[in-house]
Amino acid sequence: MAGGIYLFVCVSFGLAAGIVGRIKGSSFVLWALIGAILPVLGLIAAVLYRYETAELRRQCPQCGKVVMLYDALCTRCGVELDFPEVAVEAVDPTLRRERGATA
Ligand SMILES: [Zn+2]
Repeated sequence: MAGGIYLFVCVSFGLAAGIVGRIKGSSFVLWALIGAILPVLGLIAAVLYRYETAELRRQCPQCGKVVMLYDALCTRCGVELDFPEVAVEAVDPTLRRERGATA
């Protein structure tokens, strides 16, 4: 019985963390896994996660403006952007640490 309750808690927190992560523009699956593995901490991490600094960015080849990785058009000069080969890594160091620490 206890195992079933634990599983229920994990699934509930996983879903909650996944939804929060998705709202913030991150991966639902990634945050659902984090929430399920670390029921309370994962959800807190998802809530505290700052998407502006964690999103991958890239630089417009035409005007040099840093835009979001998924933007198809430069927001400054309007040039069409191909899917980039080089992305500017997320600037939030805490997120990188979380991603690296899967053990
Ligand atoms: Zn541009």
